[in-house]
Amino acid sequence: MRNDFKEVFNLINNSKKICIAGHKSPDGDCIGSVMALYNFLKAMDKDLTVLLDGEIPFNFKAFVNEEVIAEKYQEEFDLMFILDCSDSKRLGKYEPAMKQANKTVVIDHHKTNEGFGDINIIDAEMSSTGELLYNLLKSSGMTLSKEIAQFIYIAILTDTGKFSYSSTTSKTHIIAADLINLGVNIAEIDNIVYNSKPANVMKAFIDCISSMELYYGNKFSLTSITKDILDKNKVKMGDVDGVAEFLRGINEVEVSCVLKEEDEFTKVSLRSKNKLDVSSISAKFGGGGHAKAAGFEIKDNVENIKKLLLKELKEYFK
Ligand code: 5GP
Ligand code: MN
Repeated sequence: MRNDFKEVFNLINNSKKICIAGHKSPDGDCIGSVMALYNFLKAMDKDLTVLLDGEIPFNFKAFVNEEVIAEKYQEEFDLMFILDCSDSKRLGKYEPAMKQANKTVVIDHHKTNEGFGDINIIDAEMSSTGELLYNLLKSSGMTLSKEIAQFIYIAILTDTGKFSYSSTTSKTHIIAADLINLGVNIAEIDNIVYNSKPANVMKAFIDCISSMELYYGNKFSLTSITKDILDKNKVKMGDVDGVAEFLRGINEVEVSCVLKEEDEFTKVSLRSKNKLDVSSISAKFGGGGHAKAAGFEIKDNVENIKKLLLKELKEYFK
């Protein structure tokens, strides 16, 4: 077993109160990884606290028992796992929980992650935190339950864009094969995760797409998810997913962008098709991510952020 994996299992064996946290506005990789680790540690009879800042999107609710997600925490933790977070800010309102933990273990696959835990299992070659977690859990020699396998599959499926992004390797597929052998029903998961949009969510998605703007010879596409769109369709921000990926689907588009209007800030999602590394642009503004999918948030309105981005990208598209 790898030394850092050994260290993690030593810590688990010597800990009772364990916290498992993921990033703010949790996505499939975050939810899948957090819940897979939850089920693994539950079977070891640990006293667990799950912290996730933000709602579980509608298309993951069928898999998650939301009762296990804590609303608040008071205790000290022997150990805290932080999953799929490239920096501590990504924990959102649960960032202070790190101070309550005797030891912290960061498990992540973002190349902008500098390692902010006591133990850092970071591998930017991994397609997803789920794939990295699979390698960790498998190294224990224990059999993974069907439920754990299902959560890991969801994590990998969603973060690889259904096994299509360049981060997907033959190893990713071998892992998926093992998960299927453990009982994962891939067609059922696909239907729940991708084919279950309520009509109002689909309408909000269409509103976002239809207000798309194109710049720099159609190489840059941009739209926003405004409060107006959310209110009009009665949907929550976290439920409108895949807009940036959809805008990247235009032939000439190199980079797509979605501006999400939040209460006091704007959340930016960037997607790149080929060369431009959007994680370095995001890092400039205090965010991070991957070369082809990254983001950041700024305390300013959508219009101003749009101007800022157009200026930032002008050089690149010139
Ligand atoms: P999304 O655009 O789907 O929110 O995120 C795309 C990728 O960028 C994800 O891997 C996510 O973790 C990362 N990312 C998004 N927003 C932020 C941010 O504010 N800070 C950092 N460090 N990473 C982010
Ligand atoms: Mn991820």
